[in-house]
Amino acid sequence: MKMRILYNTVAIGLIVGFVIGIIFSINKIVANRYVHYEMFRLIIYSFQEYLNKSILIVVSISFVLFIGYLVILFVITLMGKSVPSKQNEYSKKFNKFIAVKYSRVASPFLVLSVLILNLTILFYSGNDSKIPNIILISIDDLRADHLGCYGYKRNTSPHIDSFAKRNIIFKNCYVHQPWTLPSHISMLTSLYPITHGVDMSHSLEPAIVTLAEVLKNEGYMTMGFVGVGVWMDAKYGFSQGFDHYNAGKPEESAEDKNKFIRKYLEKHKKKKLFLFIHYFDVHSDFNKLPYDAPSPFNNLFSGGYKGDFKGGDEGRFASKYLSYLNKNQIKLEESDLEYIISLYDNGIAYMDKCIGDLFEILKNMDLFDKSLIIITADHGEEFQEHGYMLHANPYYFEEIMHVPLIVKLPKTRSNFRGSGEGKVVNGLVESIDIMPSIVDILGIEKYGIEGKSFVDLLEGDERGKEYIFGFGSDGSLFIRTERWKMLNDSSLQEGRFKLFDLQSDPREWANLIGKGLEIEGQLKRKLKEKIELSQKLRKDLLKKRDISRDIERDYKDVSLTQEEKEKLQALGYLQ
Ligand SMILES: [Zn+2]
Repeated sequence: MKMRILYNTVAIGLIVGFVIGIIFSINKIVANRYVHYEMFRLIIYSFQEYLNKSILIVVSISFVLFIGYLVILFVITLMGKSVPSKQNEYSKKFNKFIAVKYSRVASPFLVLSVLILNLTILFYSGNDSKIPNIILISIDDLRADHLGCYGYKRNTSPHIDSFAKRNIIFKNCYVHQPWTLPSHISMLTSLYPITHGVDMSHSLEPAIVTLAEVLKNEGYMTMGFVGVGVWMDAKYGFSQGFDHYNAGKPEESAEDKNKFIRKYLEKHKKKKLFLFIHYFDVHSDFNKLPYDAPSPFNNLFSGGYKGDFKGGDEGRFASKYLSYLNKNQIKLEESDLEYIISLYDNGIAYMDKCIGDLFEILKNMDLFDKSLIIITADHGEEFQEHGYMLHANPYYFEEIMHVPLIVKLPKTRSNFRGSGEGKVVNGLVESIDIMPSIVDILGIEKYGIEGKSFVDLLEGDERGKEYIFGFGSDGSLFIRTERWKMLNDSSLQEGRFKLFDLQSDPREWANLIGKGLEIEGQLKRKLKEKIELSQKLRKDLLKKRDISRDIERDYKDVSLTQEEKEKLQALGYLQ
């Protein structure tokens, strides 16, 4: 009788778990628009994920209920009482209940079907050594012009320089907003910030396709290793499409991260892999000197400093202190500023060493040659070139928008047009071009994106983009051509536009707005046109008739904990 009750309870649990699993799977498939994008592998993965999870949970609950039932019987017996005859009647009724009968018949088939689903996925997630691994490395806060390969005076980056020399360096790559969260979402979705809509209070809409989803749909195992920082948290939608998404611990350095990556690769190196690696080590620290690198890099360029700058004052350390300078528009002494810049360069040198270590790990596992490797950054850093520290300037000047982009093509891609060895690309490209380029190199179909593949630029003397854009979630923006750049802060007031001729004024000092230049009207028209296009695309992607709610931003779907707020204050992001 008892075994029969156990069997029946578990059978009912299986049915309930199956139904719940199906409901959750369908919900995810609809929300992420997998049918619309014909991402069939992801549809199957969704069923697998939710069926396994819900069946396991509900069957476990059934077991617990059954054990509870046994305990009650045991207690009754212990108390010297016989089990009431009514109890036995209930048990009999339960066993004969029509739903129980059906569950008993159906459950073996359900178990079998879920088993077949899991085995099929296991069988088809086979390895293909001809397919390249994709390794996308984002070094937070790394401005391009502080690397040797971008012409810097100090030897900050020997490993990255030698990597660039043997591969493809893009001299003019730009991000769209100088802030970790929206910039990385743009990189991973190929959408401008005004299109993906992610900011401090808003996460990524599931209907937007991520690079990780595209690659997972191609059979890649997808792994995100991200550095410390609230802005890379999975709650903003970063983990969408990743099999594993690992956020580092506060004390973790790039070396620790590399150790973790090595362990992961040792386990999974035979699979097709997409690794998204985000290092936070160049970013300013908040409780000591800014950009403090570990020894021996902490003295590499800053050893000669004789001043008394200790990283802050009156309890405001590093990032918080630099943010205080911004708020009060305080100019640093020349020697202190030079010292802070050399600390930043120390941090880059340490990061560069860790990039060299990562390449060694890949080479030792025979993964380097077969991988498509991309090094880039989410934004740069400013040192009062235009009055600000960190990356807080409301105007998108070059020091915070110009980032490195270095690409190594996979050797296994034999039909690819050329190896790209030693190629220098001067044409304009943007961070949103990374995803379509990866997709292009792999020959995968394109999805709803705003970027354009830069693969054509590798073949000859094709020019880069005619226009590139930056759109901050706060409203700040820029547009640039090879020669001109126009920008505005978040007020977007007509009188606050700035226009620079980068050819004669690369430091953006001489504002040419209102000087009667024809380019002024042309760039403003182009900006307006682009904003309208992005809004239309957002509407299409989200299948919304009305996106006014998005534009007004009168709702929030992400909130920060007190601890996260404090961390961000310390980093200078929140006041
Ligand atoms: Zn960042």
